[in-house]
Amino acid sequence: MIKNFKIHIIFRKTVFLIVIALTILKITTQEVEAETWEKVQTLGSTHIKVLEATPEGLLAGEFFQGTVGGSYPLNGIYISRDLGETWEFIGLKNRGITDLKYFNGIIYATTYYTINNTYGIFYSDDMGETWQNLWLSPSSTKIDRDSNTIYLGTEHYGIYTSTDEGQTWNKVFEGSGINFKIYGLQSSENITLASTISKVYKTTDKGSTWEEIYPLHNLGINSFLIDGNTIFAGSSGTKGLYVSRDMGLTWEKVLDFGSYSVDKLIKFENRYYAGRYDEEKQNYSVFVSTDGGISWENTGLNASIIDKVVSFGTIYSEPPLLFSSVSNMGIFKTEIPRTNLAFNSFLNIPWNYKNANELIDNITSFFDHSYPLLGYTYHPEPENESRSTLNFLGIKDVEPKIYYSSHGGYDFDLNFGTQIIASSSGYASYYYCKDCGNTIKINHPNGYQTTYMHLQEDDILTKAGPVWVETGDVIGKVGLTGRTTGPHLHFEVTKDRNGNGNFNDDFPTGKIDPFGWQSNEKNDPWENYFWEDTLGSHKGTESVYLWNYINGNLIRTINPGDTSNEIVLENKHALFESPIHLFTTKMLNYAKPAINSYNQILKYIENTSFTLKSFNQTGENIVSFINPVLIEIFVDPENLTGINLNSVSLYFYNEVSNIWEEVPSLFNEELNKISATVDHLSWFAVFGEKENVIPISTDIIISGSQNDIWFTEPPLIEFFVNNRENTHNINTYYSVDNGDTWQLYETPFYINTEGITNLIYKSQDYDGLMEQEHEQTIHINLSGKTTGKIKVRDAAFQTE
Ligand SMILES: [Zn+2]
Repeated sequence: MIKNFKIHIIFRKTVFLIVIALTILKITTQEVEAETWEKVQTLGSTHIKVLEATPEGLLAGEFFQGTVGGSYPLNGIYISRDLGETWEFIGLKNRGITDLKYFNGIIYATTYYTINNTYGIFYSDDMGETWQNLWLSPSSTKIDRDSNTIYLGTEHYGIYTSTDEGQTWNKVFEGSGINFKIYGLQSSENITLASTISKVYKTTDKGSTWEEIYPLHNLGINSFLIDGNTIFAGSSGTKGLYVSRDMGLTWEKVLDFGSYSVDKLIKFENRYYAGRYDEEKQNYSVFVSTDGGISWENTGLNASIIDKVVSFGTIYSEPPLLFSSVSNMGIFKTEIPRTNLAFNSFLNIPWNYKNANELIDNITSFFDHSYPLLGYTYHPEPENESRSTLNFLGIKDVEPKIYYSSHGGYDFDLNFGTQIIASSSGYASYYYCKDCGNTIKINHPNGYQTTYMHLQEDDILTKAGPVWVETGDVIGKVGLTGRTTGPHLHFEVTKDRNGNGNFNDDFPTGKIDPFGWQSNEKNDPWENYFWEDTLGSHKGTESVYLWNYINGNLIRTINPGDTSNEIVLENKHALFESPIHLFTTKMLNYAKPAINSYNQILKYIENTSFTLKSFNQTGENIVSFINPVLIEIFVDPENLTGINLNSVSLYFYNEVSNIWEEVPSLFNEELNKISATVDHLSWFAVFGEKENVIPISTDIIISGSQNDIWFTEPPLIEFFVNNRENTHNINTYYSVDNGDTWQLYETPFYINTEGITNLIYKSQDYDGLMEQEHEQTIHINLSGKTTGKIKVRDAAFQTE
């Protein structure tokens, strides 16, 4: 067993190096956007009428009107479970497939021919192993459904709906004939649209009532795409593409699309795709829009002048794939480019780190992309965003997990006194505000400014400025000045948007997230944030990745046929045992668990926080795994100082209860490796119990001559920390201004201020755990004045 382990380790180190190489390669090639189309040779059919994505693979429905025979067409349904590499015929042979819909474990198929006296709609609830006839429907053209209603479009009788899983059907329109043929049908939870040869209808009550959309009449609309409040409607004729941004109330023509026919529409993440004729090249192709449907460009599919795109299908994988079925030509596929992260790397980590991953591991508060304007009074944070933080990964965290909302920078958890260094060279100046405390701002020559708050009075670079600093020059030490409850660095970046060399006119809209915006699924709300207030009209800034280090993340498609089912991110490994279906998994180094979510017994072990998520082929999160997932994490033994090694264990964050729960784990002390198996994926981190679990407490001794409660000479203040044999690395902080500013206690000191002083003090232990604040009221009367009239605590000393 031990031998196997060692071999495994060597193997993993190799993998680790390859991963690094790939990551670097990926960064450098990220700008390349060329999409190349490749014909899918393994499915010879040129009559695929419809493609449909399912969690387990891509379906292809074949329909050929003519003499049936030979291996193609089979006029039935195929599935590819491996990204279009191989295809399996799964039934409905010779029926001719007119449409397919996958919904919640069920495949619906509408068919054209009658076989053995059955026809109409079929369904399978076992991914095509068996098929049942759902309804002997009138000849059908389209099928779709939402959580409540199945919608069926027919050749001559308009739409039928069923709200009882197909047991009974309701005919929506009176009448029959060519004016009642359904060309387009698209359903979503909020709205469903359908089109006939001249009219377009919508329902917003799951098919109970339908109304006409007059602006779309007589345009030959035959395809729809519903994306939230945005709806596209495509014309099969020469009328082009139409868009509504208000759930179908008002419509306008998409001018950049031109007056071409639209052959199918599909969305993947934040890209829209449409089949369209290219006038210049005189052929049909697939066009893409990456700006919400405003501008469109050719992806380079080279279909002939007569062959249109009849269907689209997408597979969530790495890279994601787009499939297009072209009439008479077959299926083509292309990789969907990932959204480009804008880079302008020039920032080093602003402290001397041991592991570059400290940059993400030490984050205790993120830049809030939904509203990063803490303290901006002219435009308050919208109420519905005020309890949550949206970070650069698109993860919306609710307090208290990652606090706090409206933050315009990053809080890095660092020990009191840690040297802070210039992230990049530039002119450094001192700045002070009550909440910021001692602050250094550095104006960098490339038009960015970095800000470092809450620094100590001691060793601060300058109290004026500007002075030139080089990258890595010490500019101060982590302190407690300004509004802060514990030592940390508040770091933020501002962009000189108008390039005038002055950053004062870049508040508040110049704030940017140095981690950029890394979500493919949604667009950055801060970049698209418009508002007006008494100062004028404002728009947020595009966030750009500014660090010289890449935060570790890895995305990989796991295929049951592959030899390795493992994903390795530096010291973190996940092995999927005997995967059943192809899926894509994503591992990401993540911030340390919030300090208030664990207790005085447990300590987070550095560089072990990560998220692991898996997605099926439609991009949905896979909640649980039938076969176990083995997780292994290698820890730095130095991070285990003061930890009971028998207690070191993997934990996962329970998003429902908001607590960290232990996963049964093994700790191999020889390899410093934690192993655990899980059946669902989450946010993980390693914790261990502290050897000394008695909470720290601070005592105070005040000495001096007293008359009643009043000191008649400046009292001497001394603090003592209890419950620790060794007080090394334990800091005591005190404040004489009700917590506005904090001082580090070094030696006994006198208070000379006449009147009443509210002395607050607390200590922080070696693990960063802060004691509850103590409060001591001290009365000082040095001049022997009458003290009877003093009533108000905290007020300045007054006599009559
Ligand atoms: Zn902060």
